[in-house]
Amino acid sequence: MVWTAALLVVVISYADSDDYCYNEPHCDPYAWGDMFPSCHPLLEEHHSPINLDQHMVRNSSLDSLHLEGFDAAQPAGHWTLQNDGHSVVLHMGSGMSVSGGGLPDVYHTVQLHFHWGAQATNGSEHTVDTRRYPMEMHIVNVKAVYPNLTAALDDPTGLAVLSFFIDVVYADNVHFGHITQKLSSVALKGQTTKIKPFPLISLLPKHNMSQYYRYYGSLTTPPCSQVVVWTLYEVPIHISWSQLAQFTSQIFSTEEDAEQVTPLQNNFRHVHETFSRVVSASKDAKLLSGTAARPLGSAATLMLIITVGRVSSAL
Ligand SMILES: [Zn+2]
Repeated sequence: MVWTAALLVVVISYADSDDYCYNEPHCDPYAWGDMFPSCHPLLEEHHSPINLDQHMVRNSSLDSLHLEGFDAAQPAGHWTLQNDGHSVVLHMGSGMSVSGGGLPDVYHTVQLHFHWGAQATNGSEHTVDTRRYPMEMHIVNVKAVYPNLTAALDDPTGLAVLSFFIDVVYADNVHFGHITQKLSSVALKGQTTKIKPFPLISLLPKHNMSQYYRYYGSLTTPPCSQVVVWTLYEVPIHISWSQLAQFTSQIFSTEEDAEQVTPLQNNFRHVHETFSRVVSASKDAKLLSGTAARPLGSAATLMLIITVGRVSSAL
């Protein structure tokens, strides 16, 4: 009876969708299904993230997506960077949308956010041959017929998320500096700061945007709604070790008045089975051959050489 009462209290106290965490046993991703039934992996079969392996099906009709407004500085106004206790989120307002590339509709771009590990461990959500990249960035887009993200959660294709792996090199990524230079202003949960809009394409591997993978899955945070058309880009974004460290060691999951500050680390959900789902490779995807066969450290070293070469030639 006491246990029943205690369980009831636990269930009620975690009914708020903001009450989930990554690193404490009572509220970490393995416990989300207790608090949010739609997160339970045995009740629902289309969860994210997944591991990418060689079991993909080429779909030659999957060409580059149309990214409307990504290559222009947005008109007057500002974007808002926020620490919501689970990630750093860049809210971007209106003016951008994605379509084409096999997406069933036009989707308005609403925000992007990040997943990362800790000082010495990687933290992408999707994995490649079971290996994680240091970080992953998600650009979240809502089907244009819906006024906001919540309204899209009953539609099996209500959201389109563009996902980018982030790897690490020696040189700073100056475009990524638009975000990392502002991170100190959102170190604590609840803090926000304004960011001057910039062309979002500058963050992306713009010469490799036709190389991607497509599958149908879920949100990777509660309520884990299975409403996401995922586009996983093959070529990662590169940032520097120090830019990565700004996420892993200078962002906290606790608020200003907390007795003890807790770093926000390892904010990724565990990998789920694909079951009967098909993962499609775009027309130009290289099927991750080359990088997938090597440990990420080797891949990072190789990319360091390539990227330093690119930076040198750009200067
Ligand atoms: Zn995410």
